[in-house]
Amino acid sequence: MTKTVLITGASRGIGRATARLAAARGWSIGINYASNETAARETAALVADAGGRAHLLHGNVADEAAVVAMFDEFMHTFGRLDGFVNNAGIVAPGMPLADMDAARLKRIFDINVYGAYLCAREAVRRMSTQRGGHGGAIVNVSSAAARLGSPNEYVDYAGSKAAIDTLTIGLSKEVGPHGVRANAVRPGLIDTEIHASGGRPDRAAVLGAQTPLGRAGSADEVAELIVWLLSDASSYVTGAVIDVTGGR
Ligand code: NAP
Repeated sequence: MTKTVLITGASRGIGRATARLAAARGWSIGINYASNETAARETAALVADAGGRAHLLHGNVADEAAVVAMFDEFMHTFGRLDGFVNNAGIVAPGMPLADMDAARLKRIFDINVYGAYLCAREAVRRMSTQRGGHGGAIVNVSSAAARLGSPNEYVDYAGSKAAIDTLTIGLSKEVGPHGVRANAVRPGLIDTEIHASGGRPDRAAVLGAQTPLGRAGSADEVAELIVWLLSDASSYVTGAVIDVTGGR
């Protein structure tokens, strides 16, 4: 039977790379995106080229009604949920905390924390053997920022990702007995468009050169870890928070 995975923020970057790799490994994919439908359609085409079945799911992860509707639509389309990748996330332009306004802080925590928790809740409601599901695997996308703190850049984002690490630890203990594994990946400096959205398109290349491996990572390198954590190859791994940072 084909396994199914819903990936938030799969129109671009790490989410897209994960969709493509998972499709190549035989998964059917729900591709969530916030606003960039053109990019989401490009991801769907990549999934199809890789031999997978794709379904687009428009919705803001910070909107509870949209999240519930997205998971319901996924179940209606594919009939079962085996994997969930909690990947959608944002940064904002770098600055010290003293200069951040409340609207920015609210937006970061709404999408990166509230949205991620809502999505994980909906995944568990459909996967847990206690709730009629047949088990599954959740992969939360955190960041090395959770342990670095990102001073003078985005301590808000760093804190939001620390919440994802803690969610992973607690949730893995809640749902392990009910057939669900929950793990997190902590990417370092990965070459995607997120850095441009934070005002520094060259950030990954410049800072990546200072890492032990001497370069930025690619979205494909993160996808390898995510797809492994989704798969039965990692069947005894849960509650893990794994760095993919080139040693940073
Ligand atoms: P990206 O290239 O900027 O892509 C972000 C994706 O998230 C897009 O698909 C975007 O959809 C979607 N998204 C944004 N806000 C959303 C919302 N409210 N609801 C639903 N989808 C939303 O980012 P990325 O670099 O691939 O990052 C993916 C994850 O990895 C994030 O959680 C990020 O924090 C984490 N991460 C990245 C790095 C890095 O260096 N790149 C490092 C550590 C952690 P649209 O296309 O519709 O806008």
